[in-house]
Amino acid sequence: MDSLIVFNSLSRKKEVFEPLHPPFVGMYACGPTVYGNAHLGHARQAITFDTVFRYLSALDYKVRYVRNITDVGHLVNDGDDGDSKIEKQARLEQLEPMEVAQMYYNNYITDLTQMNVLRPSIEPRATGHILEQIEAVQQILDNGYAYISNGSVYFDVRAYEEKFHYGKLSGRNIDDMLAESRENLEGQTEKRFPADFALWKNASPEHIMRWNSPWGEGFPGWHIECTVMSSKYLGKKFDIHGGGMDLLFPHHEAEIAQSNACHCDLPATEHDQAKYWLHNNMITYEGQKMGKSLGNAISLREFYSGEHRLLDQAYSPMVIRFFILQAHYRSTLDFSNTALQASEKAFKRMNEGVKRLDAIDPYTKPVAVNPEMETNLSAFHAEASAAMNDDFNTARVVARMFDALPVINHLFKERQAPLAVQPETFLAFRKVFKEVYHQWLGLMSPEEQQEDGQGETVDSLMKVIIELRGQARKDKNWAIADYIRDQLQVNQIKLEDTADGTDWYYDR
Ligand SMILES: [Zn+2]
Repeated sequence: MDSLIVFNSLSRKKEVFEPLHPPFVGMYACGPTVYGNAHLGHARQAITFDTVFRYLSALDYKVRYVRNITDVGHLVNDGDDGDSKIEKQARLEQLEPMEVAQMYYNNYITDLTQMNVLRPSIEPRATGHILEQIEAVQQILDNGYAYISNGSVYFDVRAYEEKFHYGKLSGRNIDDMLAESRENLEGQTEKRFPADFALWKNASPEHIMRWNSPWGEGFPGWHIECTVMSSKYLGKKFDIHGGGMDLLFPHHEAEIAQSNACHCDLPATEHDQAKYWLHNNMITYEGQKMGKSLGNAISLREFYSGEHRLLDQAYSPMVIRFFILQAHYRSTLDFSNTALQASEKAFKRMNEGVKRLDAIDPYTKPVAVNPEMETNLSAFHAEASAAMNDDFNTARVVARMFDALPVINHLFKERQAPLAVQPETFLAFRKVFKEVYHQWLGLMSPEEQQEDGQGETVDSLMKVIIELRGQARKDKNWAIADYIRDQLQVNQIKLEDTADGTDWYYDR
């Protein structure tokens, strides 16, 4: 099978994926700042790295996926000035800043879980790692890549430039950065050089989220938490660092610089924090950027309920997931009601196909092989893998699934006639097709999702059924006991008798 190829933003080219310590893979993706509900852009990033996580796991890598929670009160303009985002929201909602962070974190998880986004292996919070952040800032100071100014600590870009290159990831040069920072002159007075960025900020009297540090009371800069938490849980150098393209500069550029400045004892070849830097592209609305200030940032909750002036209807979480997977993660994706409605229809057809797969019994009739259909199904696994191995091209995987749909539909409609493909081909195809649908792409049909939400009810019902069967067996009423087992099997539920009792599972 082909090897997995990933597009590395650091080298700006596609590279063969070779983990540093196989079969282990360490992956870090920047998580949300929890001061508002997640919108479509958050969904795209979460689904992109959820898909990477799922696919690497399907390839039998042991993945440790870390996604942080930014709950420190970072500043509104994402720079080094302005109000704290979380504190501003706290004042608005008359809540404690930590209440705001907890509430929007809970909402984030709920909204993403509905899209079948798996929880990462570790979800570290910035506020839980203040000590480590202070230590890292001190280390950068000790190594000579930072300076103290008025109770704040700034990264010294010019000192860093003597040994490393600030701009390596984004391809920007210092002149571009200077031009940009000249447009935003606020708070530049404390800095020695306009491109320098805050590692630690002195807290103004009204700032609520503040901690003691060797430099006075304050709070960490925006970028340092990711450098610190990724190295704490994945090591100084790990395999994949992910995020949205909007984070590439300054956030990821600063992460790399801090990591190099902190761990500059490592040989130069081992720098840059992660081996592969992956970035998903943005979602636009009818060709325009989406954003709070533009009035077109639609939260996932609004999509699910349909309650937003730009939405014609409600869209289910799975339709949104499917819509996102229909594009390659590095392409821009334009959202409109028309596009989402097209995805909704396509997803319905796909689900119909998945359901029909189970209704086809490959052994009922003698075979009359149709060579074209036989090839379509037998080539599916290799072609879907090739697409996924080509930098996680889910768009091509989905298209290949649609190529197989007419064959599934034909086999279903003609299920009384001789089977048009070899039974072994069909069985192998069915297994892989479902694996691609469920495991690689993380899709679920509406019925499965419903059932997922009612897992507890099903559990308690199954307990009753298993008890009844146990009683029937005690009474030597084999007819009833067998009837229960057989009827469950019809409903794709299998029973397994063990020394500790009877277990049940879905056999799909
Ligand atoms: Zn980050």
